[in-house]
Amino acid sequence: MSAASSKQKTNVATLKDALRQYWGYNDFLPLQEEAMSCVMAGQDSVVVLPTGGGKSLCFQTPAVCLDGLALVVSPLISLMKDQVDTLRSCGVPAAFINSTLSEPEKREIADQIRRRELKLVYVAPERLLSEQTLNFFGTAGISLIAIDEAHCISAWGHDFRPEYRGLRVLKQRFPGVGIHAYTATASEQVRQDIAEQLGLNQPRMLVGGFDRPNLSYRIRRASGKFQQICEVLERHRGESGIVYCISRKEVDKTAAGLAGLGFRTAPYHAGMTDVDRRKNQDAFIGDQVDVIVATVAFGMGIDKPNVRFVVHAGMPKSLEHYQQESGRAGRDGLEAECTLLFGAGDIVTWRRMLDDSEPSAREGALRSLEAMHDFCTSVACRHRAIVEYFGQELDGDNCGACDVCLGELDLVDDPITIGQKILSCVLRLEQRFGADYTAKVLTGSQEQRIVQAGHDQLSTYGLLREDGLRTVRDWIEQLVGQGFLEKSGEFNVLQVTDAGQKLLKREAEPQLLRPAEKQKESRTVAADSWEGVDRGLFDLLRTMRSEKATQQNVPAYVVFGDAALRDMARLRPSTLDRFRNVKGVGEKKLADYGQEFLEAINSYCQQQQVTQDVAPTIVAAKPKPSRSGVNASSIAAFELFRQGATIEDVAERMNRAHSTVAGYLSDFLRYDNIVDPSPWVAAGVVSRIEEAIGQVGSERLQPIHECLGGEIGYNEIRIVATCLNNREQ
Ligand code: ADP
Ligand code: ZN
Repeated sequence: MSAASSKQKTNVATLKDALRQYWGYNDFLPLQEEAMSCVMAGQDSVVVLPTGGGKSLCFQTPAVCLDGLALVVSPLISLMKDQVDTLRSCGVPAAFINSTLSEPEKREIADQIRRRELKLVYVAPERLLSEQTLNFFGTAGISLIAIDEAHCISAWGHDFRPEYRGLRVLKQRFPGVGIHAYTATASEQVRQDIAEQLGLNQPRMLVGGFDRPNLSYRIRRASGKFQQICEVLERHRGESGIVYCISRKEVDKTAAGLAGLGFRTAPYHAGMTDVDRRKNQDAFIGDQVDVIVATVAFGMGIDKPNVRFVVHAGMPKSLEHYQQESGRAGRDGLEAECTLLFGAGDIVTWRRMLDDSEPSAREGALRSLEAMHDFCTSVACRHRAIVEYFGQELDGDNCGACDVCLGELDLVDDPITIGQKILSCVLRLEQRFGADYTAKVLTGSQEQRIVQAGHDQLSTYGLLREDGLRTVRDWIEQLVGQGFLEKSGEFNVLQVTDAGQKLLKREAEPQLLRPAEKQKESRTVAADSWEGVDRGLFDLLRTMRSEKATQQNVPAYVVFGDAALRDMARLRPSTLDRFRNVKGVGEKKLADYGQEFLEAINSYCQQQQVTQDVAPTIVAAKPKPSRSGVNASSIAAFELFRQGATIEDVAERMNRAHSTVAGYLSDFLRYDNIVDPSPWVAAGVVSRIEEAIGQVGSERLQPIHECLGGEIGYNEIRIVATCLNNREQ
């Protein structure tokens, strides 16, 4: 083995040890090993990974392995504290320097740096670039420089920050120190620009896959929008989520409406004062608020890992925006749901807003807008459409996690004939009219201009009368989105494309949606990540987590992420040694929380007679929910519950663990809004539980359990509490 490759080996082993010791992770996420190796070797790099791809660890892990202090440049003051809190909770000495610190605090950190006590320090660019600070760090023994949100340096990026331009001096001021840029923005142009602007030396370019398999995408025509939003929220009661609206007015209205329905929600938009915005943002991060209703002003600097859903109550203005905003869901790698509700008017609203922009910027913006609109109206796999837009490919035919691949869309039976009718009408109109007009002719409108033009005499006039104007208008958009028609010129006149000619000859087939009736929303519980999790125990641990977080004044996820809690409630370790195997438990967290959480797990399991020390099953890092898999099973379980089956029945018939089925039941009760617990809990027990709830409330299960002298199981308590809540709504 050559010296170089043996060094490489030891580097990787060192990194893995650190990953395990500090963060409790056993493996690298895709590209992390390569990215970390660059840092270890001091080779400049530009790393592009999607949100949740694990960029922070790419420099944090090497930072703890290397001698010296890692300098992290980050534009987001709000993020620095969370990042530093998270590092400290893992036992990594770190600090940040920004305007929120007092003078004595700053001096203390400078002293720590002089004493070589810190491994990482976060600094905002404008502060770093002062002569004094540069000099100070010049003697601080810098191990590496990481530039977070590096697209801010590029005017091509969507978030250009002029102060980032000054970072070019770092290469001269810190010769021999590797500089590493991290971003989630994919475009090739931005990537090159970052390297150039920073003056990087033959940087390694590492670009990760843009697909986010743990996100499920759904696009729905807006119809009764508020109700549609509520449906999503209802599926995620008590979980974190974001609702994006286009306008401030809509934010206020929606937030108020949701609050009225008892959701813990807060608004966020640029029309509010800084103080109010900050307050609402903090409440969201700290889990005091579940749902933030916001304009796109919200999100930059939100690193919350456990956002379980993002709803767009209107179409975003580009796929870049959509990817970024929806990407705020599921950073922790667990399943999350992205729903986009779009209305025909959205594109008009955006066009109007763009009217004021500079002509040079406007053209590009309009193109992005069209691409977004096509995405909304097309009927192709959403995962595929997104990654292809960013110039990548998606493996496999069925992503298993979008409305198209899950077969949730209701398609017409004979799309070729409908397509032919529409296209031939466009031809009869000599390709001189827009979508509205064409739809009217096809549905036999008596409008004066149509009659006057003699278009009521065309053979295609009224051909799709039965289907209605709105549906036909939608089909035209879908044909445009799928490339059979094209809109051209100032008036968006419809033209038949080459693909359209093929369709006319029945050589190609479009996919057309059936009219949007109120479809029953199909439910996706990506139960893989809930598989084997004891829900009662999970809730108990979650309560402990928020108590700890409150005591320490940090967001809950700094204590433990959702993934770690689920893993605890799945493996149910009985000893500290086994507790160590829980995903997300490193040495420091083991020392800080191990004993207490372990005791809680042990006493819960003994009381509930739940087996412990379950062997961890090897699950792929991010299991894709599949059509045949978990969705189907929870839906099947729902069906059995509707027929009055007990948990035992279902567990036996479906060959599932008791705890898994209890989870299904809990979902079912909420989903079907069941108010009567009697099929599952004996009448006498119901009344006892209800009495206890009357005394201690139903927010947390543990006090109810205690109030009942520990005699009644968590499953029963949960069932009764859920039904009671359903009744009160
Ligand atoms: P990004 O900055 O790219 O959006 P983060 O650095 O915030 O992503 O990481 C996203 C989540 O993934 C965090 O909860 C982090 O702890 C987790 N994570 C990072 N690396 C690993 C790993 N190797 N194994 C498991 N989880 C990881
Ligand atoms: Zn798909």
